[in-house]
Amino acid sequence: MTLLGDAAHVMSPFAGEGANLAMLDGAELALALAARPGDTEAALAAYEEALFPRSEESAAESAANLDTMFGEKGLEQMVAFFTSGPAAQ
Ligand SMILES: Cc1cc2nc3c(=O)[nH]c(=O)nc-3n(C[C@H](O)[C@H](O)[C@H](O)COP(=O)(O)OP(=O)(O)OC[C@H]3O[C@@H](n4cnc5c(N)ncnc54)[C@H](O)[C@@H]3O)c2cc1C
Repeated sequence: MTLLGDAAHVMSPFAGEGANLAMLDGAELALALAARPGDTEAALAAYEEALFPRSEESAAESAANLDTMFGEKGLEQMVAFFTSGPAAQ
């Protein structure tokens, strides 16, 4: 069994990347299979090796954004977010 999308790397929606990653997983899986005709196991191994490192960055961003919004200091952090930077000037 091989997994892709949320089944492989579910995360909160606060990085806005879950659907993007799911589509990329599908494309990468298709490319891996097409590059290794007759060797499905090697294709799945190559796909799975890259799968988790690829999603790790978004998962970390998603977790950090979740904390920014709903953590103990969520309100203060969101106020700081909206009152600093180019959007607030
Ligand atoms: C509020 C919210 C906002 C989001 N915003 C973004 C965003 O801005 N950008 C972004 O990229 N991503 C966003 N996401 C994440 C994105 O929606 C998911 O990462 C993406 O839909 C995952 O796709 P998937 O195909 O892996 O899983 P899913 O879309 O969950 O598809 C799985 C499918 O399998 C079906 N299923 C489940 N069990 C069975 C079964 N036993 N038999 C048959 N079918 C079954 C389900 O009904 C479903 O249709 C958001 C998610 C949420 C909740």
